[in-house]
Amino acid sequence: MNAFTLNRRAIMLSAVAGASTLVVPAVGGPGSAKAHAGSSPSGNAGHYRFRVGDIQATVLSDGIIGGRPRIYASDATEAELEAVLRRAFLPTDHLTLNLNTLLMETGGQRILIEAGAGQTMGPNGGRIFENLAAIGLGPSDIDVIVISHTHPDHVGNLRTADGGKAFSRAAVFVPKADWDFFVRTDPDLSYMPVPEEFRQRFAANIKNSLQPVANDVELYEAGDEIVPGLTTLVAAGHTPGMATFLVHSGTDQLLLTADLAYHPVVNVDNPWLPGPDRDKEAALASRRRIFDQAAADRIAVLGFHFPFPGLGRMLKTDSAYVWVPANWQF
Ligand SMILES: [Zn+2]
Repeated sequence: MNAFTLNRRAIMLSAVAGASTLVVPAVGGPGSAKAHAGSSPSGNAGHYRFRVGDIQATVLSDGIIGGRPRIYASDATEAELEAVLRRAFLPTDHLTLNLNTLLMETGGQRILIEAGAGQTMGPNGGRIFENLAAIGLGPSDIDVIVISHTHPDHVGNLRTADGGKAFSRAAVFVPKADWDFFVRTDPDLSYMPVPEEFRQRFAANIKNSLQPVANDVELYEAGDEIVPGLTTLVAAGHTPGMATFLVHSGTDQLLLTADLAYHPVVNVDNPWLPGPDRDKEAALASRRRIFDQAAADRIAVLGFHFPFPGLGRMLKTDSAYVWVPANWQF
């Protein structure tokens, strides 16, 4: 099979996923998918380096996921949504979401913010390992992993194909309220605008992904400081425990918005409510509070699901916000 047919196959698979559900499971099970997973078909860069004061920061892509645009803009009318997507030169039947994890190197430690999806949300995740290798690192070089919330696209890579710890030495920090909701109980996910079969797989993927770290997970409360230079911020609503993050060094700051917004076109430039938000009012309040802070203080922002590398700023307008991507530093 040449590169072109592989490519076409991947594209067709994501089209199928987009037509019916948010994701497809790993084709033929995690083992067989692994053979094709984890590499970018384009060969383009999957990492982007910059600094936050004294902190060396690197966005490491875990690839892409996606689904029907409507999932991420639950209160838009079909006509409005389609018009907005067309104006942004985006397809109207599928919204691509990136997986922008952030590696912080500070105080002699390597801290990874979000673990990425792996194969839990379709065949195009799991590239973080290749992108770590591209900067000369392996999973055992990671000391700390901090998760914003336990959805599969944020924890999927924690588990190896044979059920072990993918990041053998890392201390894994998870918000306690998400652990209580998604891991300790069988959560009611009927609020999610996806088929029941998808919800069951979603819930199972969360438990499976976190199982290898269950004995030594570090549960945190949003608001805690994880290490000097990394503070978690309360941002509940999307999930019970979701946190966002402020990376800071000297006068430099970087705000990570986690899943307050999925794509800037539908959740920043247009204030539509993501369907997967469990408590839509609380999520909206968190979004406004944190976006207002980012806009007022002109803080650099990293959007986990925004177009790679996901860096930019929030501009406040009279009625809403506008996402302004940052220029790449060379
Ligand atoms: Zn997400």
